[in-house]
Formats: sequence, C-alpha cells, structure tokens
Amino acid sequence: MPKSLLQSFLAACALLVSVSVMAQTVTDVPLSDADVKIKSSAQNAAQKAAQKTAQSAASDAAKKLPTTEEIAAERARLERMRAALAAERAALEQYKADLVKRQQEAAAAEAKAKADAEAKAKIEKAIAEKAVGSAGSVPPPAKDDPVSIKNMSPEELQRQRQLAIARAKAIEKAVAAQKAADAKKKAAAAASTPQTTSPKDKDVATMKLRRITQNKVRYVHLRDVAVNYGLTFAYTKNKANKVSGAVIYDKTRKAVFSATYRDGIVNGVQVYFLYSMLIKNSEPYISEVDFLTCLDPLLRYKTPVKLGMKTIMIDAGHGGSDPGAINGAHKEKVYTLQIAKRLQTQLEKLGFRVIMTRTGDTYPTLQERAALCKKYKPDLFISIHCNSSTNKTPAGIETYRAVPVGGTETKGSKVKTEKQSANEFDANNSRLAYEIQKGMLAATGGTDRGTRHQAIYVTGNATCPAVLVEVGYLSNEAEVKKIASPDYQNKIVSGILAGLAGYGSFLR
Ligand SMILES: [Zn+2]
Repeated sequence: MPKSLLQSFLAACALLVSVSVMAQTVTDVPLSDADVKIKSSAQNAAQKAAQKTAQSAASDAAKKLPTTEEIAAERARLERMRAALAAERAALEQYKADLVKRQQEAAAAEAKAKADAEAKAKIEKAIAEKAVGSAGSVPPPAKDDPVSIKNMSPEELQRQRQLAIARAKAIEKAVAAQKAADAKKKAAAAASTPQTTSPKDKDVATMKLRRITQNKVRYVHLRDVAVNYGLTFAYTKNKANKVSGAVIYDKTRKAVFSATYRDGIVNGVQVYFLYSMLIKNSEPYISEVDFLTCLDPLLRYKTPVKLGMKTIMIDAGHGGSDPGAINGAHKEKVYTLQIAKRLQTQLEKLGFRVIMTRTGDTYPTLQERAALCKKYKPDLFISIHCNSSTNKTPAGIETYRAVPVGGTETKGSKVKTEKQSANEFDANNSRLAYEIQKGMLAATGGTDRGTRHQAIYVTGNATCPAVLVEVGYLSNEAEVKKIASPDYQNKIVSGILAGLAGYGSFLR
C-alpha cells in the first residue's frame, strides 16, 4: 500500500490502541483519570465540607450542626456529579465503538481496492494479449479503461474477468484456426506446384512416346513430347513457306527446334541440341538423348534427381605458366581470377561454402583441378574462361557442359561412347548451363552464343553438376575492354548468381 496510506493506517492503529486502553480503563476501572479528578475534587469538596463542618462545628460547636437542607443539597450535588461521570463514560464507549467501526471500514476499503487493482491488471493483461494475438478478429472489451474498472462493482469486475478470459480463449482459437488454414493453404500450394508426379511434370519413364531409329540414333515423336508436358505443337516455316522446324509451347515455356541446325531456342536462350530435328514421313522427331538430357530438364519444374547446392567450387581458368588467351597486355588468366574472386566474395556473402582451384597466379593442371573436385565433393563446379578467335569479329557469351553419351560436341560429329563422371549429372548440367547463360545475358546484355557441348576435361570429369563459362571474347577489341573492367566483371558475377538462383529453384 502507499506510504501515506500506511502512515494513516499506523496512526489509526495507534489511536485504536489508545482508545482501547481508555476503553479498558472505562470498563475495568470504575473511574478514569477524569473521573478520579472529578472524584477527588468531590471528595476534597466533601472533606472540605466535612472539615468546614467539623471546624464550624468545632468553632461553632456552640452555635449549630449542618442543617438537613444543607446535607440534602450536598447529596444532590454529588448525584449530579455521578450522572455527569456516567454520561462521560457512555460518550467514551460510543467514541470507541465509532473508531472500531471506522477502522473496519478502512480495512474493507483497502481490501476492495486491492481486489479491484488485481482485477484491473487481469483485464488489462487480457486486453494486451488480445492486441498481440489477432487485432480486430475479436470484439473489444466493453470496459477497458482504468477509471471505469476502478469504479466497477465486484460483480462487474468478475464479469469483466470472465469476458477477458473468454476473449483470450477466442483469440487462441482464432490463432489456431489461422495456423491450420495457413498450413492447409501451404499444403495446397505445394500440391499444386508441379512435381515430377504431377500431370505437368511427369516422370519420363511413364510417358507414352512413339520412337523410331534413324542412322543408329533413337528419336522420340515431338508431338507426343508436347502432349506429355501439356504443350502445344506447331511447325515453323521459312520465308519460302516450307517447314523449317517446330515449336512446342504454353504460356511460360517455349522450345524451338530446327530441322537443319542443332541450335534451338528454349525460353529465349540459344540452346545447342546434340542433333537437329528429324522430319520423317511428315512427322516431327527429336533425338532421345536430346529429349532426356537437354529438353526435359529445361521443360520440367523440378529436377527428378535430389541434389544440394551448398558448396561451390570455382575454377579460374589457366594461371601461372599458362596465360590462356592473350590480346596485347590482356591475359585471360588475369581476368578469370579476378572474376572468380568476385564470384567467391558474393557467394560467401550469400552463405555458400566456396572452394577455389587457385587463388593466385599459379597453374594447377586440368587433372589437378578435377582431382580437387573429386576430393572436396562440391555441389557445383563452375569454371571461368574468356574466349578467343583468330577472327576479331566474334563476341558474346557461351556456357559449356559435358557431352552426354550418344551425343556429339557442338563443333564435332563424333558420337561419344564412353561415360564420364559428369554424365551422372547430364540433366542437371543442362539446366545449370541454361540458367547461368540466361543470367549472364540478362546481366550484361551480351550476345547469346548459346549453351554448348564440348569435351572439356574439368567439366567432363567433375563429380557434380559442372559448367564452363566463356564470359566474352578477348580477341574482340570492344569486348576485351569490357572484360577488363570491374563493372562488366561484376555484371558477369551477378548474372552467374541469378543463374544459380534459377538453378536452385529447379532443385527439389
Ligand atoms: Zn580459357
């Protein structure tokens, strides 16, 4: 309780004690001090009167004794004094009774104030919980201001307490219902997101596809492919109005095939297939190896293979005794390391674990780089290079990946028959190359030279999905200036990061 109230209480107690003492005096002792005083004065008066009477009797012995009237008057006076004392005693008793009553009232008032404060605190807590819980979903309390609570009757306070508890329960229920609804919504969203088992993202093994073999190469019917991915098929025609290829598409996906060349276009990015499209008996086909290792990974929403993306190995091309491409003072090994380090910094900022095949001007052999990949088992391998040509005209960006078995190099015609470690990841290699190529093109505005297949030692012998990026032509005067600039290098890095983000969404 407040200090002033405590002091008042103590004072009241002291007063009560003193009154009790007084009351006790009144009760147990016939006369109080006042009484005694009055009594003494009465006695004195009586004694004096007696003395005076005796003296006067002695002195006036001869004269006379007190008269009967005088004695009666004295008696009457004493009676009046006794009555006055009794009245005073009664007044003291009344005073004591009043004081006890006031004390009881004060204690009751204090108890009530305490109960009120507790009730108020509970209600305020319930109100606060309501505000934190789900504001607006539960009606506000009828009375929630301290003033009204202070003036509430105990019954009303109890009612408010019950209301507060009811509100708290309603809030809990609403929150639980919201959580359940969210979980249901999430589950529904997850279920509607195309998976390998969904109609839009079927397991390739379950697809019904007509097949033919032509020149020892197996082909699948492109119309059947389109049907299985929910895509529309159409032939494309050249200026002479003759069939030049085909396109399969829906609102978000589009793949264009050429009946003459290997390069197609998937979602706006140039993608080199292993074989050109085949038209036989007026029906469209693409090679089965292209379908499985190149097209399917670009059309489906999620990879059928469960792979991670936490540790990334960055391979800065060339180094040390191997300068790579040279154009005057421009050396490939310098720019590949600069870009690799920028990429390392950004990836580490994003929380990736990065392993570099080289961090200085050294030359690990291609075998040593592949051995590092095998040793550290990264989730991805990215090799960085700059392109070069004897012709100064070519410019632009390319992304390479290992050649699948049964396919050929983009610039070759020899069919690959021996499987490499990288071929375990053909599908992911295709998607990774596509995403990174797309990212770099968007970031730099560079010329799209496509995703390609080539027998490169580090990508072919990688133990994880791997790509090699050619960020531009050192032999092109305009492009070499860009490649040497931090601005372009940063754009390449942000493009690779965007590609990794796209690839990450492909992972399960
Ligand atoms: Zn190179």
